[in-house]
Order: sequence, then C-alpha cells, then structure tokens
Amino acid sequence: MPQDLRSLDAFTDTQRLIVVAAHPDDLETMCGGTIYQLAQRGVEIFSVNCTLGDIGAQDASLNRPTLAAGRLQETDNAAQRLGIRQTFNLGRPDGELLPDLALRAEIARLYRLTQADTLFTFDPFWTGQIHPDHRAAGQAALDAYMPSKMPLYQPAQLNEQGAGLGCLERVFVFSTDRDPNVVVDVTAVYPKKIAATIAHKTQFPEGEANLDWLKEIDHRIGERIGVTYAEQFRQIDVW
Ligand SMILES: [Zn+2]
Repeated sequence: MPQDLRSLDAFTDTQRLIVVAAHPDDLETMCGGTIYQLAQRGVEIFSVNCTLGDIGAQDASLNRPTLAAGRLQETDNAAQRLGIRQTFNLGRPDGELLPDLALRAEIARLYRLTQADTLFTFDPFWTGQIHPDHRAAGQAALDAYMPSKMPLYQPAQLNEQGAGLGCLERVFVFSTDRDPNVVVDVTAVYPKKIAATIAHKTQFPEGEANLDWLKEIDHRIGERIGVTYAEQFRQIDVW
C-alpha cells in the first residue's frame, strides 16, 4: 500500500459516526463496506438522508408519497443489514436540495443529539460531483460542523434530552477523486455491501444484476491498493 494511504485504522479513535447523505442508498453504495466493518468493531453509526428520494424512479406513473414511504422502509432494511443504530430523514424533496440555513441547523441538531465524534459526507468540492443534491448535502454537513460546537448557535437545540455541544473531531468525505487519502479494503465484506444496497429494491429491482457499475468503481479503487474491492475517502483537516 502506498505510504500516504491509510486504511481502516484511520477510524481507530471513532466511537460514534454520523453519515450525512442526500438519498436513501447513497450510504450503502458509497461506503457500505466500511460502515459494516466499523459497526462490527462496535462503532455506533447514525445515518442521515436529507431528501426523501422521491423522484428516484423511471416510472412516471408512480406517486411521490408512495415512493418516499417505500424508500424509508428500504433505508431501515439496509440499515439492519449493516448494523446501523439509527436512521434519520430530513424530509426534503428529492432533486431540490439546497445547503440553506435551515438545513444547516437541522444537521447541527443531529450532531448535538447523537454526540458523534466522526462525520462522513459527500465531497462538495469535487468537480466531478454533478448531482446537485450530493453537493448540497456535503456542503450543509460541513457548514454545520463549526456552529454545532458554539453554545449561542440555535441554543434551544441544547435543551433536548441527550443533546450537548457538537463534538465532531474527524471529517471524511466520500464520492471524491480529490486526492483521497484513506482507502479501505472491503473485499471480505463485499457480500454485505451488496446485500444492503439491493435492500433498495425500488432502485435495484433486479438485485445484484443491477450493480455491475458499482463493482467496477469499487474494483478500480481496489486496484490502487492491490485488492479486489475498496472504498475511498479524503480526510479533511479540521481544528
Ligand atoms: Zn444520491
């Protein structure tokens, strides 16, 4: 392995991890293998999807509330397969996510409630990131980092049971080709990643047969460290 790349040991100090994504199935496809391994190590994992994923269908006759309800159920099924402790959905319409102040506050609230020490989210600065919801989710998640630690920001959030000031210490972005510096071998747990991904039946109705594209991406990343399948992240330095 190249010396500048770290593996699962990048998360040695992680005890509580929050993943901020845009759509149901983002977490599973981007980092499901890493998440499964961290859950196996006893890390408590919280998943946040900003949108309902309610335009995620090619069939225009489907109605959006029905699709949204189905995707919430799929999210829970996938979370069970990966060992995720709790899932949240912020209920925004799919395809229209903006990194506005309201979204920042809702995400900061979850940093405070979960007391997560580590964040995974989309890289909003990768120029190849063409999905606007992915950029927006990543931007809002990074923007919430600092104010969540400040007692005068949205102070009513701190009155909720279990809440405390945000205590994130480590930030990793996924879906990035911008100098990734953490590459995790997920070969041994790849069946778990596939199982969690195909729990999203509305997205992958033919199951694993729909996932050649994903295997290709993960294999290309794996080649960097000489394994069959891997997932990559960039750790952002935060102070
Ligand atoms: Zn997505």
